Amino acid sequence: MNAFDKKISSVNSYPLTAENITILQVNMGYKCNLRCTHCHIEASPERKEAMSSSTVDRIIDILKKHDEITTLDITGGSPEYNPNYRLLVKMTADMGKKVIVRTNLAIYFEPGMSDLPEFLAEHKVKIVASLPCYTKDGVDGQRGKGTYDRAVSALKRLNKLGYGREGTGLEIDLMFNPAKEGVAPDQHMLENAYREKLKELHGITFNHLIALSNMPIGRLGRAMSVIEKEVYLKQLEEKFNPDTVKNVMCRHLISVAPDGTLYDCDFWQALKLSVNERTSNTVNSFDYASLSNRDIVTAPLCFMCTAGAGASCSGALA
Ligand code: SF4
Ligand code: SF4
Repeated sequence: MNAFDKKISSVNSYPLTAENITILQVNMGYKCNLRCTHCHIEASPERKEAMSSSTVDRIIDILKKHDEITTLDITGGSPEYNPNYRLLVKMTADMGKKVIVRTNLAIYFEPGMSDLPEFLAEHKVKIVASLPCYTKDGVDGQRGKGTYDRAVSALKRLNKLGYGREGTGLEIDLMFNPAKEGVAPDQHMLENAYREKLKELHGITFNHLIALSNMPIGRLGRAMSVIEKEVYLKQLEEKFNPDTVKNVMCRHLISVAPDGTLYDCDFWQALKLSVNERTSNTVNSFDYASLSNRDIVTAPLCFMCTAGAGASCSGALA
């Protein structure tokens, strides 16, 4: 038993198992126009991994076949680079399922991407936009010079289309993460600060803020020493909150890599720790029945999801 298993065992939550699969989180490729300092997937303009057409077809089949999967959550890299991005969005939206796309906003200024906001609005797609700070220095420091101005300009355009405006049904959430290791501050307080500052500085509105802590893997992990990682994990363990365990995201989602391999979460995808189900660990052998109550692969890094109010791709858990 690892330290996380011991801890959840002490609160009668061992073993960690899936409860269902309501969200298919699909990573369409690791290429990204940015190269953020904390990126756990180590996306960059040089990455080549991209989901093939046949894997996208298989995902569409899975979504058609399983009403239990109500949401498609598209991520990357910059998933917008994948030539099948619009097809996957449109076909899933036409099935009546919820579609969430994750974006860094700056991508809308790359060649061939400028009409994406209108396309997403047309299909009523929910946008989760990463914006690690509401200040220029904070954003440019993590993501590169000019990224804050592009994000602000994209958000203004999305607001004009109706995103983040009451009564339109067009949702946009923003996502915060700390510059380095560290548990994200209280989500509610941070959301208020973002709302106030973005409105005051730029007239920007949005629906909710998601506060995510950083996982000490990938680019951030490589920048940390072994001792720094141990200290960080210890801090996370000390902040363990038993109320978060029942809601950790892996209990309700499955993560698909560009090559079609299945993972319990995006973090395990980055570490190549595929799901425990050896007979159903790719989209080609997808078996809802066995995957929806699988034993989840755990490690001390899971303390990141259960520290304080908890953390997930959808925000705090407790
Ligand atoms: S954190 Fe997001 S925007 Fe930044 S490099 Fe990684 S995938 Fe790209
Ligand atoms: S790190 Fe992944 S597997 Fe572990 S609790 Fe978090 S979502 Fe689940």
